[in-house]
Amino acid sequence: MDELQILIDLHKHADRQGPGGDAETALALDLAGVDRAAPLAVADIGCGTGASALLLARLLPNARITAVDFLADFLDVLQARAARAGVAERITPLACSMDELPFADGQFDLIWSEGAIYNIGFEAGVAGWRRFLKPGGLLVVSEITWTTASRPAELQAHWDGEYPEIAPASAKIGVLEQQAYSPVAYFTLPEHCWLENYYRPMQARFADFLARQDHSAAARAVVAAEQREIDLYERYKDHVSYGVYVARKLG
Ligand code: SAM
Repeated sequence: MDELQILIDLHKHADRQGPGGDAETALALDLAGVDRAAPLAVADIGCGTGASALLLARLLPNARITAVDFLADFLDVLQARAARAGVAERITPLACSMDELPFADGQFDLIWSEGAIYNIGFEAGVAGWRRFLKPGGLLVVSEITWTTASRPAELQAHWDGEYPEIAPASAKIGVLEQQAYSPVAYFTLPEHCWLENYYRPMQARFADFLARQDHSAAARAVVAAEQREIDLYERYKDHVSYGVYVARKLG
């Protein structure tokens, strides 16, 4: 089994594939100030198994949501969850890469993306997705962010290797301004979004995952890498989090 299939097996049984929380998704929606009763056209990009898409479908009862992920396995889980929640007819899954989206200019009132834009980079993502928003449309995006001006060398070295675009919120907000968005709001994800909502449930899946994978060397390497990331977060959580950015398209 290749590494991607192994990662899918670890993550597809989860409610979410990255740090976040229902209360924080709802807070971002409040800060965006959308009319919840409106028939909004929404895209959730990098939706995974549907943590935010399913909540948005509940909170926006007249919205239609296009849920995009390049992994069909995750979208299959999302569809099953949507059916159980009674919102399947308002969520359209789309298996597609986030840098080759087939959307029309001005198609969406709201573009949502939690813990996913790093796959193509924050600047490329906010620049590339802008044209899909209506004038005045809203972008809500979470992005790994430094929360202090300086940080320990070990943490800096880790993220310089993983994602050199990591930066403080001031720089991310600057990118939004340069790309012709007006920043509306910003907050950071609190610790429980990482530990209780994401890392602890993942750790609880390790044993069954390793059993399904016959304790292969590749599966053990995946668990070890995830555990290293968890250890790093727990050691240095004062310095790093996801920032949640809400911005309005200008023009
Ligand atoms: N938004 C979900 C959540 O918060 O639970 C998932 C976050 S997960 C960290 C990142 C997601 O982006 C995964 O579901 C992954 O399959 C998806 N992804 C990665 N690269 C992608 C790409 N190029 N195009 C579309 N989706 C991608």
